[in-house]
Amino acid sequence: MKMILLGPPGCGKGTHGKRISSRYDIPIISTGDIIRVAVSSGSALGEQVKGYMASGNLVPDDIVIALVKDRLTQDDCKNGFIFDGFPRTVPQAEAIDAMGICVDMVLSIELPDQVIVNRVTSRRVCPSCSAGYDVNDNPSRDGVTCDMCGATLIQREDDKAEIVENRLKVYHEKTAPLVAYYEEQGLLHPHRSETGYRLYSIDDICNLNVIRALRELDMPLSEIRAYLDRRSPGELVELLERRVVRWRGES
Ligand code: ADP
Ligand code: ZN
Repeated sequence: MKMILLGPPGCGKGTHGKRISSRYDIPIISTGDIIRVAVSSGSALGEQVKGYMASGNLVPDDIVIALVKDRLTQDDCKNGFIFDGFPRTVPQAEAIDAMGICVDMVLSIELPDQVIVNRVTSRRVCPSCSAGYDVNDNPSRDGVTCDMCGATLIQREDDKAEIVENRLKVYHEKTAPLVAYYEEQGLLHPHRSETGYRLYSIDDICNLNVIRALRELDMPLSEIRAYLDRRSPGELVELLERRVVRWRGES
């Protein structure tokens, strides 16, 4: 499955990505993480991009696209992947199309701006294993070190209030148009939340399983979504039978 996680900073893309990744055994490709690694390594590329990141602006498209292309050559991507934080602009989305990548679905998480500001400024991350925490709602056990690996948690420089405001502005200008872009392609699977605390339940994850199976049978996402909205298992069986019959006829 090839999936895109779309949404404003701090909407929980990383958290959802990890769940989906372990469920389907496909890697998360987080351009934010790739860029952070480059910056902390002090490489020439890192030097070139660190200013954009620190000010909450986007790294230029050609650089990000090259990083993603390079990541996709690794072996673990062959059964699919989850893009987290990519694409962030229309040219990046067009680059995905130009690479001949057939995206199965785009999970779009939408949250009110004020919720985002609160969440991002209370976010803490592990610099070593990139686990995420929240000082109010999901602190680590001792509030200081990472539960997973023991490293001391940090607040990302770009998670500080002044920078978050700019990141949101950039999100609305450059990234939000991708919602319409993928809606038009029939790939958008929107999740709107007023609070942002709605995490994927096991039910939702099972739904993703159903979605993947149906996508493999070439069912349009709009049809699948209509089924999921109604949650009618009888109808699902019927839809599946119709698809399988058609699919057998074709092969
Ligand atoms: P979040 O999802 O919390 O906003 P990320 O970790 O995805 O943060 O990204 C952090 C920063 O890395 C962005 O503000 C931007 O500077 C840079 N970045 C990440 N992904 C991209 C991308 N696809 N295009 C351009 N810049 C990016
Ligand atoms: Zn850790």
